[in-house]
Amino acid sequence: MTDYRAPVESHRFILNEVLHWERLFSSPEYAHVDAGVGDAVLNAAAEFIGGVLAPTRQIGDEQGSRLVDGRVITPDGFKEAYRQYADLGWIGLDMPEAYGGQNLPLVLQAAVAEMVNGTSVPFGMLTLMGRAAARLLIAHADAGLKERVVPRLVSGEWAATICISESDAGSDVARLRSMATPMPDGSYTVSGSKIFITFGDHDVTEQICHVVLARTLEGLPGTRGLSLFLVPRLCLHDGSPNRISVGRIEHKMGLKASATCVVDFEGARGTRIGAEGEGLKVLFAMVNTMRLEVAIQGVAIAGAATARAIAYAAERLQGGTPDRPAIPIVEHADVRRMLLIMRSRTEALRALVMEAAFNLDLALTADGAEREKARAAAEWLLPVCKACCSEAGFEVANLAIQVLGGYGYLTDYGVEQYARDSRIMAIYEGTNGIQALDLVTRRLAKGGGAQYRLFAERIREDLSAAAPSPIRQALESALVQLDHCSAVLVEHLAESPRDAEAGAGAYLALVGLVGGGWMWLRMSEAASPRQASRRELANFYARYLMAEAGTLQKRALCGAALFDGLSVEELSR
Ligand SMILES: Cc1cc2nc3c(=O)[nH]c(=O)nc-3n(C[C@H](O)[C@H](O)[C@H](O)COP(=O)(O)OP(=O)(O)OC[C@H]3O[C@@H](n4cnc5c(N)ncnc54)[C@H](O)[C@@H]3O)c2cc1C
Repeated sequence: MTDYRAPVESHRFILNEVLHWERLFSSPEYAHVDAGVGDAVLNAAAEFIGGVLAPTRQIGDEQGSRLVDGRVITPDGFKEAYRQYADLGWIGLDMPEAYGGQNLPLVLQAAVAEMVNGTSVPFGMLTLMGRAAARLLIAHADAGLKERVVPRLVSGEWAATICISESDAGSDVARLRSMATPMPDGSYTVSGSKIFITFGDHDVTEQICHVVLARTLEGLPGTRGLSLFLVPRLCLHDGSPNRISVGRIEHKMGLKASATCVVDFEGARGTRIGAEGEGLKVLFAMVNTMRLEVAIQGVAIAGAATARAIAYAAERLQGGTPDRPAIPIVEHADVRRMLLIMRSRTEALRALVMEAAFNLDLALTADGAEREKARAAAEWLLPVCKACCSEAGFEVANLAIQVLGGYGYLTDYGVEQYARDSRIMAIYEGTNGIQALDLVTRRLAKGGGAQYRLFAERIREDLSAAAPSPIRQALESALVQLDHCSAVLVEHLAESPRDAEAGAGAYLALVGLVGGGWMWLRMSEAASPRQASRRELANFYARYLMAEAGTLQKRALCGAALFDGLSVEELSR
């Protein structure tokens, strides 16, 4: 089934009526942008994904990528779709003009990325990595490397990977063992085996730029000995094959079209990016771009699964009685419940991700203190969006299967693929457990809760301007609960950090729930009489989903002792 319909109307509403992205147009960076440009881009993207990309979703799942004689072969149509996408300039949508991009705001790129991922997440992954590597190089590479590589990544002539994981180093990158040795000419040779590398090889582009985290200073412990390298599949100076091979591709639950590779570097030539020993810090320019996009992937799957389930429920007839004909299942209260959870959660998170992207745009364009605030707001939202959206992607896809009943379990209807494809999103790009720790131990801890206070302040500003409504009431009370949790966790961080860690997952979920409520407040305030359904969805979110706030508060504050009562032996008995 390839009947995904791009949510253009929702994107347009969020951009124009909720975020008021026209605030960007007065800055010199985006003087060439206006609402008309936004509309044209959204419509063109919707047309592209419907015409060219849609057929690759099912074929990609059925055929998968294959390893043949040491090279990865992508499924039918994948290469051709990529070529068209690249030639139309989509990869460089938000990239600087100086490197061949179109220099459009990231928030618009986020909307386009949702459409692409709603159609094919593997395709979205491939294009994402080129963009993310380009951003990294623009921020940290020297001029020569930038000039050589970035325009080719932006045009899609070359692709990229991110090579962090090793068999003993997953969440804990300090354990990684790949080594880089300096050569007399200033380059490095890189050796080590990286695992789980997305599109570690493929037949879509000749050149693949591997961004590799490796150890240079053997004596230094932990992450301080790590540096970052660009290690191309074909050597940059003469195009000869570098010493890189793909040992295996993994058999996995979903994302079959994207090859997950073991990539072996055997003295491969590479160039250092950024200062020695600062590899992890430098890599964040790439990782942050990817985390935002994983959040977008989650929303994309949730949106696609919701649309499919609503269409099915409107047609499927069940539940008649001898004197009354069967009715569409969408009329049954329990099916309504599921569809409303799916729709209200998806739209809240779509707006939240776009709010994060918009703040990243403002962090480039706003003046003085506003710029700093925008950066802080985006930093706060990033782990929340990554974790909440990835979870929503899978949970909404799971509900879609339930709405379709037995048919949902069959491959013919395509919703089980949404569940399989989205399951990994809570794991890669830093597991959701790690996102929660990041939120609490870094972002909440920073300045004794300063980033949280900014988030809460912005919500209170909107609350004070809003008309009385269930969403206003629910948000006000959930915000008080979140204030309390934040204050207690800041205390825990100083006095009993394990208690803070124990509450981190529930705390992140509560921030996401409140963030979603904030978006519904703004969307319901912005809705015209013609868009009254948005107020109904806001009411549902307020009265049904926000009822979870009290439970999440209790869990966030439950303390580690509750988890530590059993020894490992007792737990496993
Ligand atoms: C399809 C796919 C694509 C991938 N693509 C890439 C890629 O392109 N490049 C790349 O480098 N990697 C990639 N990965 C690897 C991915 O990023 C890792 O799987 C992920 O970082 C988790 O590492 P791990 O699997 O070793 O799990 P572990 O780190 O062993 O974690 C297992 C569990 O323990 C928890 N945990 C671990 N440490 C802590 C802690 N300190 N505190 C609390 N809980 C903790 C985790 O949250 C998780 O629940 C990919 C993986 C897959 C499956």
